[in-house]
Amino acid sequence: MPKRITEEKRITEFFGTNVFSEDTMRKYVPESAIEELKALQVSGGELSRELADVFAEAMKEWAIKNGATHYTHWFQPLTGFTAEKHDSFISIDKSGNTILQFTGKNLSRGEADASSFPSGNIRATFEARGYTVWDCSSPAFLKNTSDGVCVLCIPTAFCSYNGQILDKKTPLLKSMKALDKQGMRVLRLAGNKTSKKISVNVGAEQEYFLVDKNDYMQRADLRFTGRTLFGAPAPKGQEKNDQYYATIRDRVGAFMADLNEALWKLGINAKTQHNEVAPAQHELAPIYATANIATDNNQLVMEMMKKIAEKHNLACLLHEKPFNGVNGSGKHDNWSIVTDDGINLTDPTKNPDDNLPFLAFFAATIAAVDEYADLLRVSASQVGNDLRLGGFEAPPVVISVFVGELEALVDRLLQGLHGERKHRNILKLGELVFPTLRQDRSDRNRTSPFAFTGNKFEFRMVGSSASIATPNTVLNTITAEMLERMADQTEELIKEGSNSEDALKKVIIEFLSKHRRVIFNGNNYDAEWLKEAERRGLEQINNCVDAYQTLLRDKNVAVYEKQGVLTREELTSRYEIYLENYSKTINIEATTMLMMAKTQLVPNFGKYLVRIAECASAVKNLGVEPRSQMKALTWYQENYDNLVSAVESLEKLLPDVKGECDELQKAIDYRDKVVPAMEKVRFFADELEKNTDRECYGMPTYSDIMFYN
Ligand code: ADP
Ligand code: MG
Repeated sequence: MPKRITEEKRITEFFGTNVFSEDTMRKYVPESAIEELKALQVSGGELSRELADVFAEAMKEWAIKNGATHYTHWFQPLTGFTAEKHDSFISIDKSGNTILQFTGKNLSRGEADASSFPSGNIRATFEARGYTVWDCSSPAFLKNTSDGVCVLCIPTAFCSYNGQILDKKTPLLKSMKALDKQGMRVLRLAGNKTSKKISVNVGAEQEYFLVDKNDYMQRADLRFTGRTLFGAPAPKGQEKNDQYYATIRDRVGAFMADLNEALWKLGINAKTQHNEVAPAQHELAPIYATANIATDNNQLVMEMMKKIAEKHNLACLLHEKPFNGVNGSGKHDNWSIVTDDGINLTDPTKNPDDNLPFLAFFAATIAAVDEYADLLRVSASQVGNDLRLGGFEAPPVVISVFVGELEALVDRLLQGLHGERKHRNILKLGELVFPTLRQDRSDRNRTSPFAFTGNKFEFRMVGSSASIATPNTVLNTITAEMLERMADQTEELIKEGSNSEDALKKVIIEFLSKHRRVIFNGNNYDAEWLKEAERRGLEQINNCVDAYQTLLRDKNVAVYEKQGVLTREELTSRYEIYLENYSKTINIEATTMLMMAKTQLVPNFGKYLVRIAECASAVKNLGVEPRSQMKALTWYQENYDNLVSAVESLEKLLPDVKGECDELQKAIDYRDKVVPAMEKVRFFADELEKNTDRECYGMPTYSDIMFYN
């Protein structure tokens, strides 16, 4: 058994050892260079070759000392995954000697053949050149394998030869800049004179499933699509609410301990872990970090989960809906806006009525979510999430904001009343001796897709496998837009003679009044809510393909362009990629389904059919009327025939849909023709599974996979 961490001291000793943190830098780089880099991080600007050389040399020394032989630019192309190409430090000097070298040029810029990454027609394949550029605001780190292979990873942005953005990191960084710029204008108008910069904090709660690797390997659907395409429900699911927060089983606990250790070494503050609602489902949440770092970290969390699972002969499923009939997985994106001098602008503090900066950022966020709900919906749209959103386990498809107790504040403002501070209740638990329990500012509302949770907003629609870059890019961009409008309108009023704070407050009230309709504190799962939402004019977007079609609405292109985040061309390329990816994913699922049906299920069910028939004739030979056998045979034969014809229909359909040239039409066909055809195949296969001999079925079942321990 591996030795576990028992002393706090040990954690602090190895925490961050695999990350080129500021503390580590200090050992290799002069203080003046660190200061120079920090200044660049705050205000941007050109990275000089000299400074890049200093950091490159330092990183190389540190990495080699820790066993690294290679470095890589680590980036986030539009595939949704991370990408890396390893180069060794080996180089040949002028005299022909082999040396180890890593220059400022190697660090700050890399070239990647961009033609094999999705670009959505932005670039013809013959224009293959792409660049990766060092993002010095996110620290470099070491990736280790248990065999001692070690690679230095440099977080980078990725763009085409002509500078078009081809990744997820760059828009995020640009959106943070936009929010800083417009947020600072509003902050000054609100009377703040101390803060110099605004940034965004994000904490992503990551849900996932763990299953036994042996089961996983026997299921082509899990291996190729990340979810089960077949499977009758196990006799027990989550109906007893006995999984959530349940005692963590030893095997899972051992996995979590190794995962934490790996993450801590990478400087990721893994904090909370627990069992989730569905059997075999779990969650991990780190302590929040700056949006850009939180995004990089979340990619690493997902990667480490998969890697560490292997070590425990487990497989980690990050798909949004691995199993029918039980909860799927999401990723709550906790988001707050903070100043460089430590003011959380999304914290109402004790007296929100008089906290003008809070009111401004609160109103701007609510207005943004209302006006650009479609963009938020797009940012949470991927095939897997279609199987989850709108059900009773996950946020509904209509976007609204839960604000808890602050609804009264909004009403007070709109009615022109001044705040009567509500004291938070002290909860009394009978006469028992317990520490004082102060009620939270807001209760939890698990049904809301976008909730204000005390001192942050929580966007709950994001899928478990998604990068959080895009949802946060959208949140930052649309809030920046609203802050800009707020500042513009306030400045107009000031020109007309108002004082700054009165003017801002007036604009805040106008914003809240206009966007009050998006606030909903009730039960979002209630069927009445959908009707009410319609009355309020809130849009209901039921699936990805519909969501993608809203991306290029004029107002949406305008906000991205105005805030300097993405151009029309870049958005169009994203739209194409989304559609392509949708169709390709369903095509892989349908192809996997056909393979499993034709090579496993149909033959296996066929064998069982013969067995029932043989059984019937054997009984008959004994001179007994095989009544129940014949009944079973008739039922089985009928379902078997239905399965075979459902498989044939799916198989016939696929080439036509795949050959469709128009990307939108293709995606619509996959959604409206292929998905229903797949559902049919599954229906008959699952019915047969329930009535087939265990051995004959030939694959691990839901009972095996979800209850593996
Ligand atoms: P929940 O109660 O929703 O399960 P937790 O209290 O466990 O949530 O926190 C969820 C996540 O929110 C964590 O990653 C946490 O670090 C993050 N978080 C807490 N405060 C903030 C904040 N001010 N800004 C951004 N994220 C935050
Ligand atoms: Mg939460």
